[in-house]
Amino acid sequence: MAAFGTVFMPEMALAKFENGAWSKAEFVSASSLQMHPGAHVLHYSSTCFEGLKAFKHDDGSINIFRMDQNIKRMAQSSRLLNLPKVDGKQLESMILDVVKKYADEVPAPPGSMYIRPTHIGIEPSIGKAAAPSATSLLYVLLSPVGDYFAGGAKPLRLLLADNGMRCAPHMGMIKSGGNYASALGPILEARESANADQILFCPGGDVQETGAANFVLIDGNEIITKQLDSTFLHGVTRSSILTLASDLGMTVSEREISVDELLERAAKPGTEAALSGTAAVLTPVGTLIHEGKERLVGSGEMGATTAKLRSALNKIQWGQAEDTHAWLTKVN
Ligand SMILES: *Cc1c(COP(=O)(O)O)cnc(C)c1O
Repeated sequence: MAAFGTVFMPEMALAKFENGAWSKAEFVSASSLQMHPGAHVLHYSSTCFEGLKAFKHDDGSINIFRMDQNIKRMAQSSRLLNLPKVDGKQLESMILDVVKKYADEVPAPPGSMYIRPTHIGIEPSIGKAAAPSATSLLYVLLSPVGDYFAGGAKPLRLLLADNGMRCAPHMGMIKSGGNYASALGPILEARESANADQILFCPGGDVQETGAANFVLIDGNEIITKQLDSTFLHGVTRSSILTLASDLGMTVSEREISVDELLERAAKPGTEAALSGTAAVLTPVGTLIHEGKERLVGSGEMGATTAKLRSALNKIQWGQAEDTHAWLTKVN
């Protein structure tokens, strides 16, 4: 199986913003993109993206999960980056059209078609370090993906970074390339120094998120995660898991968690922790590493509630449970 995100469908949907308007979207080759080496995005990181998935059901239909949320977030990221305004209706058509075109290539569960809308500023101007790009490209790439958990969902080792910051606080809720560049150094250092899988950024002791996933703590019947603010990414999976937890009668607490509280709670038997995101759904966290000490979360294995929530989400996505929140959009 090829590594996640390395296989692409041959064509993508693309629209160009120039002279104050969007072109009609068209299908173009997904193997290359031509732009000026002075393009704004290459110098000043005027870029944002989305990640969502289409699923194949037993009846052969193809269904996209919570597309409206990803389109909304894409429009928000573009606005906060001063990129040209995204036309949500146009982006929706682009996603539907390209997924329809490759409907036959959507892998069956536990695989799916990963959808990657991308928006980049392409004005050839290296003089615009402090000005927005007047032109941009919006395109939708498709990448068929297999089971993220092939070989089992091994609980992750997280390094808690008390004063680590993933990105500048005012950039946190923007799904923008520069934020991943900003987090990469600390992540590599966490791997090197502590053999950690990920780093959990906790600026000022406030438990936030990892490089590309949100963090949730499960203590008995309660699920706890940081309340939304502009400093971190508002995951669609996070919101879906909280909704399902509430459906299951759990108490949902959206509030700050300090590193101290996390360590205290994690030590109790039965506590669970997990990362949420589109790629990995809900991945158990088995070990927290803090100030050179390693502590298991609960038993250190995947907890029953994590497994239950993950399965509840997957069942809706795979058409095996009723879509009570109308999260799926049928493509064909
Ligand atoms: C994409 C992303 C998430 C998860 O968002 P989903 O919408 O659930 O996929 C969380 N944190 C960061 C930093 C992300 O980039």
